[in-house]
Amino acid sequence: MLLEVGYWRSVPYLWDYPRPQSLIAPGWRAAERPRIVRYLQSGKTHTRWRGYSRCRFPECGAALGSRCLTDGRWLWPEGLEHYIEHHDVMLPRWFIDEMTLRKWQVPEVDEDEIQQEPIVEAFWINWARKTAKSLAQRHQPPPVPAT
Ligand SMILES: [Zn+2]
Repeated sequence: MLLEVGYWRSVPYLWDYPRPQSLIAPGWRAAERPRIVRYLQSGKTHTRWRGYSRCRFPECGAALGSRCLTDGRWLWPEGLEHYIEHHDVMLPRWFIDEMTLRKWQVPEVDEDEIQQEPIVEAFWINWARKTAKSLAQRHQPPPVPAT
């Protein structure tokens, strides 16, 4: 089973997926970022697509990549680290915990076997929905006390 992480809403399909703008957490995992970035960049190829995906921040639009990458447990789009480095977007703690357990090394993956694994998107969609909600609440002004 491969857990999707880092896939974004694109109209008119993938409507349930989050927008990266909803997951901005300034300073998230600042000390570990270089290791997170290196881990994401060293994922193994799962799928190749025609054409590049672009950064979903319209004012940026950087070309990010044309593959889906995996570590045998998670599946993410190439270039996902761009959102962390340039836009302060956060990822699920469980993903980072597993990077730590693996000492920040992506394990070898059997590329034929990995194609047979079912892909699960619900974890990412649910995590992103909950996280976006709590980030939005955090940024709201405190309620005015009743007088
Ligand atoms: Zn960007």
